[in-house]
Amino acid sequence: MNLLEVRGLEVRFGDGPAALVVEALDVVDGETLAVIGPNGSGKSTLFAALACVRPWDAGRLTFEGRPVEPTGPAALDYRRRIATVMQQPLLLDTTALDNAAQGLRYRGIGRREARAKAQAWLDRLGIGHLASRRARHLSGGEAQRVSLARAMAIEPRLVLLDEPFAPLDAPSRAAFIADLRRVLAETGTTALLVTHDRSEALMLADRVAVLLGGRIVQIGTPAEVFEAPADERVAAFVGVETIQPGVLESVDDGLGVVRVFGPGGTVSRVEVRTDLPAGSAVHVCVRPEDVAVSPRDAGSHVHEGLTSVRNRLPGVVRAVLPLEGQFRVTIDCGFPLVATVTKRAFVELGLEEGRAVVAAFKATAAHLVPRRPGREEARPSQAGPPAGQAAPEPLPACQES
Ligand code: ADP
Ligand code: MG
Repeated sequence: MNLLEVRGLEVRFGDGPAALVVEALDVVDGETLAVIGPNGSGKSTLFAALACVRPWDAGRLTFEGRPVEPTGPAALDYRRRIATVMQQPLLLDTTALDNAAQGLRYRGIGRREARAKAQAWLDRLGIGHLASRRARHLSGGEAQRVSLARAMAIEPRLVLLDEPFAPLDAPSRAAFIADLRRVLAETGTTALLVTHDRSEALMLADRVAVLLGGRIVQIGTPAEVFEAPADERVAAFVGVETIQPGVLESVDDGLGVVRVFGPGGTVSRVEVRTDLPAGSAVHVCVRPEDVAVSPRDAGSHVHEGLTSVRNRLPGVVRAVLPLEGQFRVTIDCGFPLVATVTKRAFVELGLEEGRAVVAAFKATAAHLVPRRPGREEARPSQAGPPAGQAAPEPLPACQES
């Protein structure tokens, strides 16, 4: 059942084109839906419309099968049954307990009952001992827990969250994400989270909607969106680091061969599982964690565990970037292929710049998205030739397919 349905929603600022257009978005009862997108993509605009704190210019919201008006009594009734958690917790200059009780008080619950319920929620979130602490003396993580207690205490049908983790440092962020996950699961509360951070969506969401430039461009499970992004813009946003133009040369029983165009006129071939027809202009997308790196001198032997790997490309390490517990290695295989390598493998393989290696990935690990003419510039610069640099040879157009 859909708890909330959004149809044809438009929000405008001034006379220009609509900043936000949502054709259709459903929030299913009991799920956590994450709306992810970069800064400026319209997440807070969507949040404000769904929270009924900003009127929308066109479209329809339906909550529990009934229409929601942007203003007036119907809006008020809707707002009483939902709760919000925002980047800035907006606490009153009073105690943690009074703040946590605030939502209940606004909804007409008596002071004693409201405080008892609020205290129970502070306890549940591990900050019961801070009940009498003044809000301005709380740490960021504690304040955000008070904000969550305030939201959950009203037993909302739907909780809307706008970047609730953004102000927190890494350890308190991880702890708060874990708490939110637990609380949503225990109470079965439906949630819509908007965030620029794709890792939060992976940790929390049952489904993910990708918002780019004020438009939702893909909705699916985290696996669908992260492993089969709809286009190269989504791919870049969900952490695909190799996005390279090419042409699908042939397809045999779902196994395609792609001519991949590298900078400087090189052409490489990779094998890919695909539904697209031969002749399609494509971008080849490969996630860095799906690329295995082995030394070139051992390359003649079949690397253990890689026997089913279709793509084994000789290359040279061009760049190395240390990450948390691993390294990001860019390998020139005729085109730049990005791999993440564990620290241990990095040391064992001696992957300094200039090292000759074999980069391997399965045909199922590569994902093809159709390449539309004029969309080259959307690729991240490190994953392809500089903007404006022509592909090495004329590219067959999409209309062939
Ligand atoms: P996000 O939350 O994804 O960072 P926002 O929803 O805040 O994005 O903004 C989306 C777009 O709408 C941006 O281009 C932003 O500049 C614009 N915008 C947001 N609020 C206003 C406003 N009050 N007036 C004019 N433009 C706005
Ligand atoms: Mg925002």
